[in-house]
Amino acid sequence: MQDCPGPDMARGQQKIQSQQKNAKKQAGQKKKQGHDQKAAAKAALIYTCTICKTQMPDPKTFKQHFESKHPKTPLPPELVDIQA
Ligand SMILES: [Zn+2]
Repeated sequence: MQDCPGPDMARGQQKIQSQQKNAKKQAGQKKKQGHDQKAAAKAALIYTCTICKTQMPDPKTFKQHFESKHPKTPLPPELVDIQA
């Protein structure tokens, strides 16, 4: 049984492992960046009007939209506290 590698082998193995780690890290960063951009684009329009399904980027716009387009409809509870 020769399970234990010698010191030289261990060092070589470590080098390979760290190279693999770096490659993985870079690939992961690339992947993450793409994902973030997608998520950001999606997050840019997260408020959807419950009445007409118009999408808006922030609660202020949503509240202004709601008050001007649907003045007879009570504000959704999440908009009541928004300072427009
Ligand atoms: Zn609307």
